[in-house]
Amino acid sequence: MIADSAAIASYHAHIYYDPATTREVAARMRENIAERFAVQLGRWHDVPVGPHPGAMYQVAFDVQVFARLVPWLMLNRAGLTVLVHPNTGRPRDDHLIHALWLGEKVALKGEALPESEPRADIPAIVPNTAGAA
Ligand code: ZN
Repeated sequence: MIADSAAIASYHAHIYYDPATTREVAARMRENIAERFAVQLGRWHDVPVGPHPGAMYQVAFDVQVFARLVPWLMLNRAGLTVLVHPNTGRPRDDHLIHALWLGEKVALKGEALPESEPRADIPAIVPNTAGAA
């Protein structure tokens, strides 16, 4: 079956870091993202949450931000691992099959993710940064 990319409602980038060694690097990246892009920055998670095996914060963004933000992350991830996944209403597939990784790929806990969710339940992106889209 060929999927239409219109199925993608939005994207997440998850920025992984080590609270003991790379939190500062992650903090600088967070500031740089906030200055440059209209995205919704999530809270710091120094303790693993959901499918994520390590500390991270989430950057949620609209489809039209992808073409600028993802190349920027490619060039500026400063050694950190970044998971980029679409939100299509199939959370398990979105993380385990449809994702792309910058840097070292880490094993996600797929069992923590529902197979499907109603598309209407995918939260709209509410930018909370100063950056212009
Ligand atoms: Zn996510």
